[in-house]
Amino acid sequence: MKLTSTLQQTARLLVIVSSFIVTSNTTLAISAETPKPTVSMLFAGDIVLDGVPAQWIAEKKDPLEAYSAILASTDIRIGNLECVVATTGDKAEKIFTFRGNPIALPTIHQHFDAVSLANNHSGDFGRAAFTEMLGHLEQQKFSYFGGGRNLKAAHKPLILERKGIRIALLGYDEFMPRSFEATATEAGVAWSEDDEQVVRDIKNARLTYHADVVIPFMHWGWENEPLSGERQHQLAHLMIDAGADAVIGGHPHVTQDTEQYKGKPIIYSIGNFMIDSLDNEPQTRGWIVRLEVSTSGVNAWDTRLARLNDDGIPYPDKEAMTPCWHGKGEAIQQCSNAETRFIPH
Ligand SMILES: [Zn+2]
Repeated sequence: MKLTSTLQQTARLLVIVSSFIVTSNTTLAISAETPKPTVSMLFAGDIVLDGVPAQWIAEKKDPLEAYSAILASTDIRIGNLECVVATTGDKAEKIFTFRGNPIALPTIHQHFDAVSLANNHSGDFGRAAFTEMLGHLEQQKFSYFGGGRNLKAAHKPLILERKGIRIALLGYDEFMPRSFEATATEAGVAWSEDDEQVVRDIKNARLTYHADVVIPFMHWGWENEPLSGERQHQLAHLMIDAGADAVIGGHPHVTQDTEQYKGKPIIYSIGNFMIDSLDNEPQTRGWIVRLEVSTSGVNAWDTRLARLNDDGIPYPDKEAMTPCWHGKGEAIQQCSNAETRFIPH
């Protein structure tokens, strides 16, 4: 089932009514109000191709089976690839390091159009492994953003065009280690602590890449914090002031608060999506966030609870109530996950 919304239905009705008037009286000059095309987008949180979910894939089982209908019904699907995907590299000196086998990538690509590499795990096995991952992604024509073969490439927006709407995706990490950051000549992630650079990237997405919609996907905040912090607020506002249409965040492994700032959504953290390193109950509850966008930005959005089992496999929870926003003039509300307005079940 494809996405329908009251807005689209009303617009369709308008077209039908107008064409009826036009055909019944051709002298009556009524221009049909053609509805603006809309595109549905979905963002999922941390996806780690290690541990049990990776084992499932190796055994030819699909850990995202329960989500296949939801993902397939959305025009653009984005995830955060919270690991490196490579066969080479040396483990960094960190408590947690994640590396996925390249054979797992096609299963993820089957469900997602693009992944963000801007996080604190894509550099876990060094720059050579990171570069190897870029090669695997490119070979499979699996789009990525927030990382690249050098600093310039890492800050370049990924442009996805659907129904004539150009959407720019930028990805940034600002959770340590900063050593994963790309340099002028070395591969790595985009880092967001240089506010001026972020503002330039957003403006550039519109001016140079002619994007209609610009969305930064952030990796920020503190783990297990249920509320976003001061830096997240400041940077999110700065990005929207610079022209971003929405800001989606992750990394804390739990969901955080949401905000409409100048009419534009900020979802501070969407939490986990597929990961078996789970320390506490809130980490087993992630959100997928879905946006309905047109050339004028985000028309509406909602979130849906993804409940991760002990093996880190996500399942939709239809009983849950999670934040949603129905459009201009509305306040953020709690929506029943059983509703099908944005996401068919
Ligand atoms: Zn992270």
